[in-house]
Amino acid sequence: MSLRFNAVQTATSRQPVSVSVPGEKVTDYFAESVFDLKKMQKYLEPDAFAAVLSVRENGGRIDKEVAGKIAQGMKVWAMEKGVTHYAHWFQPLTGTTAEKHDSFLDFNYSTGTPIEKFAGSLLVQQEPDASSFPSGGIRSTFEARGYTAWDPESPAFIIDTTLCIPSVFISYTGESLDYKTPLLKTNALLNKAATAVCKYFDEKITKVSPTLGWEQEFFLVDAALYEARPDLILTGRTVLGHSASKDQQLEDHYFGSIPERAAQFIREVEIESHRLGIPAKTRHNEVAPNQFEIAPIFENVDIAVDHNILLMDVMRRVAKRHNLVALLHEKPFAGINGSGKHNNWSMSSNTGINLLSPGKDKDSHLMFLTFLANVVKAVHTNSDLLLASIATPGNEHRLGGNEAPPAIFSAFLGSALTKMLNLIENTKGDGSSAQENSLLTIDIEHIPELTLDNTDRNRTSPFAFTGNKFEFRAVGSSANCAGPMMTLGAAVAEQLTAFKKDVDALISSGIEKEEALLTVIRKIVIESKNIRFDGNNYSDEWKAEAKARGLKNITSAPEAWAAFKTDRANKLYVDQNIYSHRELEARYEISLETYVKKMQIEIEVMDELISNVVTPVALKYQSLLVGNVVGLNAISLQSAAAPATAIITKISEHLNAIQAAKTELTATIATAEALTELEAKAVIYAGKVRSLLSTIRTESDELELIVDNELWPLPKYRELLFTK
Ligand code: ADP
Ligand code: MG
Repeated sequence: MSLRFNAVQTATSRQPVSVSVPGEKVTDYFAESVFDLKKMQKYLEPDAFAAVLSVRENGGRIDKEVAGKIAQGMKVWAMEKGVTHYAHWFQPLTGTTAEKHDSFLDFNYSTGTPIEKFAGSLLVQQEPDASSFPSGGIRSTFEARGYTAWDPESPAFIIDTTLCIPSVFISYTGESLDYKTPLLKTNALLNKAATAVCKYFDEKITKVSPTLGWEQEFFLVDAALYEARPDLILTGRTVLGHSASKDQQLEDHYFGSIPERAAQFIREVEIESHRLGIPAKTRHNEVAPNQFEIAPIFENVDIAVDHNILLMDVMRRVAKRHNLVALLHEKPFAGINGSGKHNNWSMSSNTGINLLSPGKDKDSHLMFLTFLANVVKAVHTNSDLLLASIATPGNEHRLGGNEAPPAIFSAFLGSALTKMLNLIENTKGDGSSAQENSLLTIDIEHIPELTLDNTDRNRTSPFAFTGNKFEFRAVGSSANCAGPMMTLGAAVAEQLTAFKKDVDALISSGIEKEEALLTVIRKIVIESKNIRFDGNNYSDEWKAEAKARGLKNITSAPEAWAAFKTDRANKLYVDQNIYSHRELEARYEISLETYVKKMQIEIEVMDELISNVVTPVALKYQSLLVGNVVGLNAISLQSAAAPATAIITKISEHLNAIQAAKTELTATIATAEALTELEAKAVIYAGKVRSLLSTIRTESDELELIVDNELWPLPKYRELLFTK
């Protein structure tokens, strides 16, 4: 029996793996694997506990002596829970997370006995050794070693028998090498800028934190079917495969015990997540077969980012126990909806106010309007960078397709808020007419009713206001949310700072506060108008209109990343001290390098499948048909040989087309590889190479339809998608 039929048989005969619930209520075990404040209070000496609280509240560093005490407390707690190893857990630019495991085991050299040791120096940042400073260009700097240091805002947690210490990753020359460091810097900037603007409305606000609630989409496939698809294993997506036809979608041949396996998997993911303090809540997704979604209750952005990365990891591990594989790629299957990770984003004050939620009185409505208008303006100014922040090799397969995200960046506000902003625009206030502004204030009083009535939801917008938060829908399912969240936070921080400067200037020229606010709001509403779009983002009319508005339509990741080289990028990231100029350049290069590497892997996988699987199988089937034709001719039934002859010809045509495309591909790759400029190289991979791969795929998928089903060795779409 072929590998494929074995796999299908294994998959269809599997039983759901049942999951036991560790407690009656989620609160019985929520965060039991996390060294959270409650445990810190119990296991740390009062001064060490106070130090952690202070760093969390005000930033700064933990000194060596206190670090020793924290490490001691952490170790005692962890060993009580059976932990034997520790690892610094961080988010490098090249993958989701990295860990370096070390054992607590050490040696007492004076007595010669083994001891459990975990020093404070392992917790906090170690001073780099000056002699190891690398010299040379950015590339060598970035390949240089770095050090990791605990981020006291993120609590340590246990996975299996390892104590994981959430860390930032910094090179010996001081450049950040991870996603987390720039995000933390941005959060601090946004806190400062937003708090300053809050002061116009509410003196009690002393801190603002960005909040994030992500929605993680993914596909589940049986492990045996996955193992029979080298492309899934190596690239996370199917590089070949004809889509399942409508009838096949209705055919319930493979259903069996299906939803139950997925249900048990999700149940265990939830339990594991809850143990790790991730406030997960499941939702099922009906869009594509075997596609699901998990979303949490929102948290502060930095914690939510950690929790998303952790959840992806939990999913991978739990899936193994259920003989499933969770596919986190943005587009595992062509022709079927891909997976995104909507990033719901807002800002929250230390007094518990959601800054993007209209409040109860006139003042808070104006505050809401202030933040809303500034976010829209920030998006308008930085739309290219926001697009660049979600561009990845995987997300490229979704960009511009007839599902989120469109490759044109725009923001949706809904009809009621649009009406409000239009009203502001048309109230011809220029700071001189207080009367106009007070008329407007009356309308502002009605904002809550307006937004409550605002039931229109736009599912095609890459960035949609959804009542009390923005939903950044363009983010891809495999992304680290820190990238887009950092760019959005930096954009809003920069905008709020500029806004405050303008308002303060008007106030100091003698204009009353409310009028000054409205005057500047009006200005930015007008300036950012062309980024607002409430219609269907997938329509051709929008493409034409966007072009007329001067908005870009970029579907390739390398092209989108070109935004990182602009003056705007410098202003946003470098002038605000989030990146150094070298870091910005290096991040751009790392993106391009990763892109080229991933494309090369896809090419290799495609080549292997075509040469070792598709071609031999097509030829084998063709030979069978030739035998049939020869036989029919031998018994003088030439006329009966027509069907087989037609298929023989078709197979040759497809194989010839594949051969021609492969030849062109080889030449194209040679041209790309001869280039020294990384950017130019990536552009070729994103353009010509991608299109040739797609040609080969189309031909191969036609062969899949022709060749005898019994002979086809790769699990087909209907099996991957409908075996549950
Ligand atoms: P949907 O219609 O997309 O299902 P929900 O109201 O269920 O909308 O929220 C989706 C996500 O938005 C959830 O993860 C939720 O935690 C998050 N969310 C809600 N309020 C906020 C907020 N103020 N800031 C950030 N995320 C939020
Ligand atoms: Mg959503």
